[in-house]
Amino acid sequence: MSVSDIRLYIGCPRRVYFASRGFELITEMNAPRLERMLLKELALNYPEILKEYSLNADNLYCELEAALEGAQKDLPLLFPGELTGAGQEMFEEGAAAARARLQEIATNLLLALEEYGKDPLLAAVTPVKTEPLLSSARLNLKGVPSKLVCFEGTLVPSIIRPGNCPTQGVWASDRLHAVALALILENESGKEVPFAFVEYAAFGLLRRVTVRSADRREVLKISRRVEKIKAGFMPEKKEGKLCSHCSFAEHCSSGSSLLSKFF
Ligand code: SF4
Repeated sequence: MSVSDIRLYIGCPRRVYFASRGFELITEMNAPRLERMLLKELALNYPEILKEYSLNADNLYCELEAALEGAQKDLPLLFPGELTGAGQEMFEEGAAAARARLQEIATNLLLALEEYGKDPLLAAVTPVKTEPLLSSARLNLKGVPSKLVCFEGTLVPSIIRPGNCPTQGVWASDRLHAVALALILENESGKEVPFAFVEYAAFGLLRRVTVRSADRREVLKISRRVEKIKAGFMPEKKEGKLCSHCSFAEHCSSGSSLLSKFF
């Protein structure tokens, strides 16, 4: 089982059912998705940019702009399959939207430099490993954090999220995603992982997530439910905003009785 199943479950438990039975969850390629992909790549450049000794609002903006241009060039090389259907116009639109975020990203990174200091901020964003595969046989769970960072002497997972950012803290789905990765890392390393990070790439904001017992319990509970779904249990349909653009909608509305004939 993968941490992405946990995210899928949080969105809609039925999606886990369809995905585990070979139906493909199609995520449409469009300008907003390209914008998110670019911002995620940009965030991976923060450590290099923040190492610059004397950053101010102007030169930080220029460094971010240059890194975004680099990400634009690299993206088709990094994700050739996903970008097959993306035309030049869509690409330009996505890049323009990402560029429009740069001012706010620069402002927030400078505020973080002021508030936390350069060395702690660099430690929190600099990867010891980028996108490592973590797995735990005991938890029957694997996952790939955006990076592992060493902060205050502890190796912790960090995820880069390119979407919206809550006013404070992190979204519940991001919290459980980060906690699931912390649990796997703990099982791999044999050392407690008391916190994790979530980077909101479209805002240049870094949020720390404390790994609480309640979150651990929730991750374990969801993992067991996902196992049950993968074994054949079909959850109730959860009508919600995801349904309107869900690639499983047709199968979902055909009803559990029909599907159970096939599976
Ligand atoms: S159509 Fe709605 S209920 Fe069905 S799988 Fe998709 S999101 Fe879930």
